[in-house]
Amino acid sequence: MRVHNFGAGPCALPLEVLEEVRDEFPEYGDTGMTVIEMSHRSAEYQAIHDDAKERVRRVSGAPDDFEILFLQGGATLQFSMVPMNLLSEGNTAGYVVAGSWGEKALADAAALGGYVAWSGKESGYTTMPAPDEIEVRPGTRYLHVTSNETINGIRMVDFPDLGVPLVADMSSDYLARPIDWRLYDIVYGGVQKNLAPAGMALVFVRKSAVEDRPELGAYLRYATHVEGDSLANTPPMFQVYLMGKVLRHLEERGGVEGLQKRSEEKSALVYQAIDASDGFYRSPVDPAVRSHTNVVWRLPTEELEATFVAEAKRAGLVGLKGHRSVGGIRASIYAATEMPAVEALVAFMEEFAADNRP
Ligand SMILES: *Cc1c(COP(=O)(O)O)cnc(C)c1O
Repeated sequence: MRVHNFGAGPCALPLEVLEEVRDEFPEYGDTGMTVIEMSHRSAEYQAIHDDAKERVRRVSGAPDDFEILFLQGGATLQFSMVPMNLLSEGNTAGYVVAGSWGEKALADAAALGGYVAWSGKESGYTTMPAPDEIEVRPGTRYLHVTSNETINGIRMVDFPDLGVPLVADMSSDYLARPIDWRLYDIVYGGVQKNLAPAGMALVFVRKSAVEDRPELGAYLRYATHVEGDSLANTPPMFQVYLMGKVLRHLEERGGVEGLQKRSEEKSALVYQAIDASDGFYRSPVDPAVRSHTNVVWRLPTEELEATFVAEAKRAGLVGLKGHRSVGGIRASIYAATEMPAVEALVAFMEEFAADNRP
């Protein structure tokens, strides 16, 4: 039996897509082999690659001045590739550090000129900055933001338009909100939350930001992947193939707008359950920036939190343990976690609160 999966990533993928993949897995079309067995130089794979890329362009609305890249190394390799490709002697990059992922992105940029433009560390990463709280120093090449801090359960509501190009890590609400392309030089994210299996980053790079960087190894240069159409080496074929199918499923359901609406509705239901619990459940974050994809909350004691997770699992609701760095409970509600799963979670929360109220 399939459970209700609230895992933070990897996470649920649409069942219809998984069933379609299962059915065509041993023999794709008339090739007599699976997608992961075929040559990445074959016409059949090229068609899968091109289709996925076109769908990304259509769904995201990325204008032609952005290149679309499928890269290995997840979002994490982008923490390095971004500063390596955009920074040089004499310029720097501001980092909005609003949570654990912003911290990691800055850590990889610090030696190359990354500085803290805003930090939420002292407040325990429970809020996001207002644009006028962000410090942009002279000589700043880009400002890095994380659209949704997956571990801390907060989202950037308004993206700062401060006269410097933005670079955004959108891993955990990718294509669940419209992107105002004017603001960005790079948008990137691991695909394993809303779009595909882990192991790939979907990267949008503004063409004018792609520089020749002969000092870097070939894979580390955006220029390599732009020239090679993400086929400079063997691409993550299974991820590309599956992402194409997930995007088709997403297009059939209203694209970004549809996903945004569903994400808002699903998360609102859980926040309502938290707020209506008379303090039994407690959201630690600023209500104005509550995430639409990762809902975090606490219970009166850590023992009760452990019991909650264990009993939820027995009820078929899995992946609810908060990240080890913050504790508590976290329900990740990505694209493929549907309303019935959320309703089951809310019913469980109500029952659990009634049974365990001190
Ligand atoms: C999951 C996640 C990452 C890490 O992605 P990998 O593909 O595992 O490298 C980075 N940033 C954010 C915001 C995430 O949610």
